[in-house]
Amino acid sequence: MNIIRNLCAGPGALPRSVLLAAQEAVLALPGAGVSILGLSHRSHRFRQILDDAEERLRALLEVPPSHHVLFLQGGGTLQFSMVPLAMLPAGRVADYIVSGYWSQKAFEAAQHHGNVRLAWDGRPHGFRRLPRAEEISARSDAAYLHYVSNETVEGLQFREVPRTAAPLVCDMSSDFLSRPLGATPFSIVYAHAQKNLGPAGVTIVLVRDDVLSRMPSGLAPILDYRAHCAARSILHTPPVFSIYVVLLVLRWLGDEVGGLAEMGRINEEKARLVRGALNECQHFYQQDILPGSESEMNVTFRCPTSQLDTLFVERAEQAGLVGTAGHRSRGGLRISLYNAVTIDDAQAVAKFLSAFAKEHRSTGTPPGTAASGAGVTR
Ligand SMILES: *Cc1c(COP(=O)(O)O)cnc(C)c1O
Repeated sequence: MNIIRNLCAGPGALPRSVLLAAQEAVLALPGAGVSILGLSHRSHRFRQILDDAEERLRALLEVPPSHHVLFLQGGGTLQFSMVPLAMLPAGRVADYIVSGYWSQKAFEAAQHHGNVRLAWDGRPHGFRRLPRAEEISARSDAAYLHYVSNETVEGLQFREVPRTAAPLVCDMSSDFLSRPLGATPFSIVYAHAQKNLGPAGVTIVLVRDDVLSRMPSGLAPILDYRAHCAARSILHTPPVFSIYVVLLVLRWLGDEVGGLAEMGRINEEKARLVRGALNECQHFYQQDILPGSESEMNVTFRCPTSQLDTLFVERAEQAGLVGTAGHRSRGGLRISLYNAVTIDDAQAVAKFLSAFAKEHRSTGTPPGTAASGAGVTR
């Protein structure tokens, strides 16, 4: 039987040692005897899990004492609203870099809460590249500048933090802890777990002190960072299991991988392997993203026809490579190389890319389909 390699864009792959430890804890949490699924969130044991997770996160990312660490629910999508509720009072304007599917969602959500403007619009560029520093019109009087560090759908990733005099807010959902990028320049960083960090259900938010002291009063507690800080992430029943798995992943990152610098090096190597194979078959694969903006986490590309894309997904799955279809809004193909995907996995992907291109390059149409095909030739 083939090894199954998980290349899904989210929920994504988790390290095998983490899955084994999670399996054990479902039966009985080591040291506690009860299943993690039935552990009280008010128990001393769970408090230790939360504190341990926070401590490890602070150490890995070098989170400064100015920033609070919260474990919340509601995913990235709830943060699209909690950020403007906290930081966008009436009479102010927030800047948004719209560089892809998710930053556009954040921009649209913020319009329900206040005045927003575009600091850069990637739509005329087909979301195929990120802005150059001088193209971003971030105004110093903005309530904040929001951007998405890694556009999961298109496969775009910022190399540098955008420069602005306004407070910075970043959605790091799909590249959090993939490289040593800390919280220091940011007023708020948020990242749900299910792309790079754990199962769905928990979202990590790093929020700086001064955001809390300037927040408007009168928000419902569930939407108010201050209430979550005061309750130390147990304002209501938290996703106990998801938080435990995040702790396991943080332990893996620290103890097995050896920290974020090493993780960053491994991720670079994986992306280099996969892109190398794509570049070698340039006559066959078309890459969506312009040079300089490509993501190390999500590699997007297309075969010469959409039929070949479909066949690619099918054949890849037969070869044990699961989750290679592009996002439903964009089509094409997407290979996600999150932290838990290994160099060995990336080598297997590279090998498959070369073999598939070799097998199909002469035809341009998959065997068994009419040559006159309904195939959309690009
Ligand atoms: C997947 C994704 C989201 C959506 O998060 P939900 O947890 O589904 O609400 C937001 N931002 C980014 C960058 C994503 O990749």
